[in-house]
Amino acid sequence: MARTAVLGRLGAAAPIAWRLAELVELVPETPRVASLLLSVPGWPGHTAGQHVDVRLTAQDGYQAQRSYSIAAPAESERVVLTVERLEDGEVSPFLVDDLRAGDRFELRGPIGGYFVWDEGSGGPLQLVAGGSGVVPLMAMLRHRAAVGSDVPATLLYSARSPEEVIYREELDRLGGGDGGPQVVYTLTRERPSGWTGYDRRIDGEMLAEVFGRPDADAMAFVCGPTRFVEVAADGLVALGYDPSRVRTERFGPSGRS
Ligand SMILES: Cc1cc2nc3c(=O)[nH]c(=O)nc-3n(C[C@H](O)[C@H](O)[C@H](O)COP(=O)(O)OP(=O)(O)OC[C@H]3O[C@@H](n4cnc5c(N)ncnc54)[C@H](O)[C@@H]3O)c2cc1C
Repeated sequence: MARTAVLGRLGAAAPIAWRLAELVELVPETPRVASLLLSVPGWPGHTAGQHVDVRLTAQDGYQAQRSYSIAAPAESERVVLTVERLEDGEVSPFLVDDLRAGDRFELRGPIGGYFVWDEGSGGPLQLVAGGSGVVPLMAMLRHRAAVGSDVPATLLYSARSPEEVIYREELDRLGGGDGGPQVVYTLTRERPSGWTGYDRRIDGEMLAEVFGRPDADAMAFVCGPTRFVEVAADGLVALGYDPSRVRTERFGPSGRS
């Protein structure tokens, strides 16, 4: 009884409803990554950085559930997910290889209120991505471009090779435009001949060179594999960034469910 009263006072959040998403188009991004453009009737809208839960149900009733960041900016009419196929994965190979336009699956969201940015949040915006961790950060850059924000933005993006850089053309276009974000790559395994950029995993020296001295108003968002996120976030804090302004999202590995 008392617990009910407390929850009532705190305004316990209603569970988010599952909705049916329909695949409108599958856009290959890299050999292992594809974007799913989805129509989700009743979608309430979202903020860049949020994610959804996807639930797949087999004919025998077995269900698997995973989280995916929303790649589309708040302004988009479609919900867009960008999924990397893990060869031994249960859910990601199905989403990248087996889904066809018109197929439907369950999705709920948007989820998350901490790893989010909109133009009102200010900046400078300091983004650090490892692999598919670029997805929610891309939603932030797309939102920034859509609203014409002049908040300075920098993306440091670690990928194994040039072929594995997701959204490469769009990042080149955004970065090349007036007031566009500064985009810095580090390619950890393979480089094109003549590559003069970074060629190693992210470390404190690289973070210092790319982001410079901490600005009191800076908002940092770090996303990628768990270990990558820890190294990058610790590196920013060691440089003097306020830990409460270094926000992190860890992509995996996940437990099966
Ligand atoms: C908040 C959040 C947002 C996410 N957003 C995205 C996104 O935008 N795009 C995206 O591709 N993924 C994203 N992920 C990861 C995603 O939820 C799944 O974990 C991933 O797709 C693997 O699922 P799977 O069923 O294919 O693999 P599983 O069957 O769960 O795992 C297969 C193997 O891969 C390992 N593994 C699991 N996940 C990862 C991982 N992320 N990296 C490396 N190894 C892993 C497991 O330990 C296991 O050995 C996000 C995760 C979280 C928590």
